[in-house]
Amino acid sequence: MVLIAAVQPFAPALPAAWPGWAQQALASPSLLPEISHATGGAFHLLHPQTFAANLGAFQAVSARTGGTVYFAKKANKAAAWLTVCAERGAGVDAASVPELREALRCGVPGQRVVVTGPAKSDELLLLACRAGALVAIDSLDELERAVALADGEAALRVLFRVHPPRQPNSRFGMAVPERQAALVRIGQFRGRIVLEGFSFHLSGYDIASRAELAGELIAECLAARARGHRADTISIGGGFPVRYVEAEDWARFQSEFRPEQCHARKTFSDGFYPYHCDEPGARALEKILAHQADGAALEQRLAAAGIALSVEPGRALLADAGISVFPVQGFKWREAAPNEHAGGYGIATVAGTSLSLSEQWFGSEFLPDPALWPTTQHRQITPTCVGGASCLDSDMLTWRKVPLPRPPKRGDFLIYPNTAGYQMDSNESSFHDLPIPPKAVVDFSGAEPRWSFEEKP
Ligand SMILES: *Cc1c(COP(=O)(O)O)cnc(C)c1O
Repeated sequence: MVLIAAVQPFAPALPAAWPGWAQQALASPSLLPEISHATGGAFHLLHPQTFAANLGAFQAVSARTGGTVYFAKKANKAAAWLTVCAERGAGVDAASVPELREALRCGVPGQRVVVTGPAKSDELLLLACRAGALVAIDSLDELERAVALADGEAALRVLFRVHPPRQPNSRFGMAVPERQAALVRIGQFRGRIVLEGFSFHLSGYDIASRAELAGELIAECLAARARGHRADTISIGGGFPVRYVEAEDWARFQSEFRPEQCHARKTFSDGFYPYHCDEPGARALEKILAHQADGAALEQRLAAAGIALSVEPGRALLADAGISVFPVQGFKWREAAPNEHAGGYGIATVAGTSLSLSEQWFGSEFLPDPALWPTTQHRQITPTCVGGASCLDSDMLTWRKVPLPRPPKRGDFLIYPNTAGYQMDSNESSFHDLPIPPKAVVDFSGAEPRWSFEEKP
């Protein structure tokens, strides 16, 4: 007799931590229906106060070294965050002409913009130079173009972007011999170019590797200073982790999750984002500053050398600052295929597409469970996957059979938590001629919830 291990026919629950403002949005009987009536399709809610609180936490830690917090704009396209940056003395990390223009338009001073990205266009270099922005130079040929464009009206401020020695497959940055050549080259342009220091951006979320590379660059700053350069800043990029779910839920999910619990037995070969971390956001930056090497914490070593540590967080500044609302358009039941040792399950189709939940476009899935609205007390656990309203079989917001508390029906909303960082708009397009989901800024500081549409770019 063949024994088939019993697999729970639906995916383990992975409840999100809903911040207070999002709970208020869900608790309001009228807010979501009203905005839905105005939009007619999927929409996103933004909460700039949460962004401001995240920013304040980063600024408090970074200020101990005299560093600047630059919001990595690519993580979300809304202007609301940039307005907060302008109000709170924060900077912006821009990597294209429109991103730089948008930061300036929202009131962020050019001197507080860092321009990153490889092989920047001449237009971007010139605009950065004129605005007094800091430019992270990625290669020797880019340096030549920057030097040619910086015609002396104002000195061009630069960082040298470092090719991370322990991520040799990174295509970004300059290796040691290139940085040495770049140093010699700018020595010939004193007054036209100011080397303010070095920068890097690592993939992954490891604290130690960021602290170690920053520590190694202290000596390089001192060596550049010995040649007469300013070199008093190290920017360690982004990659500060976000806590989407609690530790025990994440551990249980990882041990119990099986392909059978997905529509079409979908597998995710690229794995999942680490949805739980012990030290999220600004606390990760504190850990980096506390990292010990050569008998001292990084913070002390920076202070001794007179070096500021700047950061470019994207996702972590947007933690808990946005949710995405998808109206349910239909629901059907699918019996399990005979070879599937699992029960039947529902397929919900929502207005909107998976283009508004980007993780699907990286061969992965956004795992924190969506909430079904109106919320309900009674329980009729209904395993449900979620598809978009397009003609593609692959347009799934959620392949997992999520244990919804009841069957969803037309007129309900499925609400995805914590989507502001990269999920909501990195990949949006008007596929099927559908309008791009609008964003509403919400405010719960008064007696009644207030909302207004975020201006269209
Ligand atoms: C994308 C990017 C960031 C932001 O990364 P997060 O993981 O969102 O914090 C910062 N700096 C550079 C150079 C980047 O390309």
